[in-house]
Amino acid sequence: MSSTSFDVVNPATEEVVSTVSLAGVEETDAAVARARKAFESWRHVAPADRGAMLRRFAEVVDAHVEELARLEVRNSGHTIGNARWEAGNVRDVLTYYSAAPERLFGRQIPVAGGVDITFHEPLGVVGVIVPWNFPMPIAGWAFAPALAAGNTVVLKPAELTPLTALRLAELALEAGLPEDVFTVLPGKGSVVGQRLVDHPDVRKIVFTGSTAVGKGVMGGCADRVKRVTLELGGKSANVVFADADLEKAAASAPGAVFDNAGQDCCARSRILVQRSAYDRFLELLEPAVTGFRVEDPSLDTAQMGPLISRGQWDRVAAYVPDDAPVAFRGTAPDGPGFWFPPTVLAPVDPQAPAVTEEIFGPVVAVVPFEDEDDAVRIANEGEYGLSGSIWTRDLGRALRVSRGIEAGNLSVNSNSSVRYSTPFGGFKQSGLGRELGPDALHSFTDEKNVFIATEE
Ligand code: NDP
Repeated sequence: MSSTSFDVVNPATEEVVSTVSLAGVEETDAAVARARKAFESWRHVAPADRGAMLRRFAEVVDAHVEELARLEVRNSGHTIGNARWEAGNVRDVLTYYSAAPERLFGRQIPVAGGVDITFHEPLGVVGVIVPWNFPMPIAGWAFAPALAAGNTVVLKPAELTPLTALRLAELALEAGLPEDVFTVLPGKGSVVGQRLVDHPDVRKIVFTGSTAVGKGVMGGCADRVKRVTLELGGKSANVVFADADLEKAAASAPGAVFDNAGQDCCARSRILVQRSAYDRFLELLEPAVTGFRVEDPSLDTAQMGPLISRGQWDRVAAYVPDDAPVAFRGTAPDGPGFWFPPTVLAPVDPQAPAVTEEIFGPVVAVVPFEDEDDAVRIANEGEYGLSGSIWTRDLGRALRVSRGIEAGNLSVNSNSSVRYSTPFGGFKQSGLGRELGPDALHSFTDEKNVFIATEE
C-alpha cells in the first residue's frame, strides 16, 4: 500500500480484499471538469430519455443485487440480509426518481401585465460525500434525484468502503448513462471531500457523516454560498409506554439498535421505558438480546456482523469500561475481526457519555421515565434529533408524543426509519434539508422565475 492507495479490509476477517487507488486534488479537479462538461449535454437530454436511462440503471442494479450485496458483506461486514436490502434500495430509489424528469413541473403564477412562469433548473455538478456505515443507500439517496433533476455527480465514498460505489459507477455505464455523468472518486475526506467542498464548479454538496465534520463542510459551503444537504448524527429514543404491546416492543428493540452493529444514524440507542413497565420490559428484552445472532455476516442467519474497523472498535469499547453498568449482553465471535457483543446498560446514570453521545456501536441504554411529559423531555435532551419510536396503544398519546419529540423521522409501534417515497432528515444538529420523497428533487434545482410581458 502506498500513500496513493488504500488496502480495503474485510472487518469480519481482517483480510485485505482489495487495494484501491486514492485520488488527489488534481484528479478531483479533472473529474469535476469532466462532470461539468458532461452536464452541458445531460441537462438537455429529453426528460423521457433521462428517465428511461435511470430506469435502465435500476434494472441493471436489480440484475446485480446479489453481487453487490456479497461485495458489501466483504467490504463492510454487513449481514447478507441487510446488504441485499441495501442494493435493492438503490434500485428502488433509482426507479422512484426515474419518473421525476417528466414531472419536474414549474408554476404559472397570476401577475399583472403578462405571464409568469417558473422552471426548476439543475444546479450543475453535485458533490456527494458518503460515510462507511451504509455505502450504497446513502449514495443512492443523493445521486438518483440529483441525476434525475439533470445534474451530474461526483461521489466520494468513505475511504474504508469504496467497493460497491465503484461497482455502481461501472453499472451506470453498462446501463447507458453517458461518460462523466456519474463519477466515483475514492480518496481521503480531507483531500477529495474537502476539494469538492472548495471547488467553485461544484454547486451543491450532499454530506452524510459525523456532526463534527458536517459543521466544517457547512462552513466551507457557506464561504461560497454553495447549496448543502447534511445528514448527521443521532441519539434516537425508543419510547415504550406501559400500555404498549411490551412483547412486540421488546422483540423489536434489539434490531432497532444492533442492526448494522449499531453503526446507524437512526439507531434507537436510548430505550426509554415507563417506570411501571421497566422491570417487565428488561425481562422481555434479555432473551431477545442474548439470542441476537452475531456471526459470519455472509450467513443467511446472521443478524449482526462486526464493527467496521479497529478504530471504531476502540471508540465503542471506550463507552463500556470495566465498571460500566452492563445489565446483560449477547455473544460475539472472538476474532479475527472487529466483533463487539450487543450490550445493554441499565440502570444507568442519565448523564453518562453512553447515554448522551452517539456511540455508533451495539450499545444501548435503558432509561426509565414517569409520564408523557417526562418521556418527551428526556427524548429531546441533547443536540440530536434524527429519529425515534413511540410504542403505545393510545392513538392520542402516540400523536401527542410524536408532535412533542424534536426529530425528523418517527415511527409508532414500529422501529422503521426509511421509505424512499417519504422525507428523511434531521432536526437540530442531526442535519439540514431532507432526502428522499417527492420534495428532495427540488433541492437539486434552483427555481427560475420568468416574466413575459403581454401588454402592447
Ligand atoms: P466522518 O464524518 O469523518 O466521515 C464521513 C465522510 O466524510 C467520509 O466520506 C469522510 O471521508 C468524509 N470527510 C472526512 N473529512 C472531511 C472533510 N474535511 N471534508 C469533506 N469530507 C470529509 O465520519 P467517521 O468515518 O470519522 O466516523 C466517526 C463518527 O462519526 C462515527 O463513530 C459516528 O459517530 C459518526 N458518523 C455518523 C454517521 C451518520 O450517518 N450519522 C456516518 C458516519 C459516521 P474518509 O472516510 O475518507 O475520512
